[in-house]
Amino acid sequence: MSHETCPNCSSTIKDGLFNSNQLLAKTVSDVINAAQGTNTKGFCGKCGNDLFVTSLTKLKNELIEIQQTISESISKIPVISVHNPYKWEYEVIGLVTSQSVTGTGVFSEISMSLSDLFGSESGSMNKKIKDAEVICMTRLRKETWELGGNAIIAVDIDYSEVGSLRGMMMVCCTGTAIRVTNNEVFNAETRNALEAIHQIMEKHDRINAICKPYMTMSL
Ligand SMILES: [Zn+2]
Repeated sequence: MSHETCPNCSSTIKDGLFNSNQLLAKTVSDVINAAQGTNTKGFCGKCGNDLFVTSLTKLKNELIEIQQTISESISKIPVISVHNPYKWEYEVIGLVTSQSVTGTGVFSEISMSLSDLFGSESGSMNKKIKDAEVICMTRLRKETWELGGNAIIAVDIDYSEVGSLRGMMMVCCTGTAIRVTNNEVFNAETRNALEAIHQIMEKHDRINAICKPYMTMSL
């Protein structure tokens, strides 16, 4: 048997009941290399075990940050009610829909203010409906992006009450997901956001693939 050593720390690799020191799996090395920015051929239990835990934590945190950035950028995807925007050239991808149900507050909350009951303007109710709209729009944008689109046209918002006694309100959004081919019709902020999603998505997928075998592992 040859005296195999660890490519990283040169410790002897030995396979015994006691004092065993094994080379770690390639998927473990991949996690360490990706997090540390190294390209080491392999790690052994001695030098790699702790390093693996810190590396995986680092990559998982990076993934969370990337997901936040993607969410922010996705919120820049144009959502418009116009059916045929001036000068836009595009391919139609298809219908996108989303729903969000919210309690309007009148029946579901004890701590309602008097204006909610009798006032002309119901503050908390308006806010809840607004929040539901935002949730719907975010879902439309995510779905559109996943379908390969970069804008949504002909958007329609509908409101309906569900459950007459409970004061539940459903907000429904529908629209047509499209892929705009002449991006110059977008403003600079939108163009930058769309470009940013593309770039960061590649990074996200790469890190995600490396972490995948250990995604459910709690640290
Ligand atoms: Zn080692």
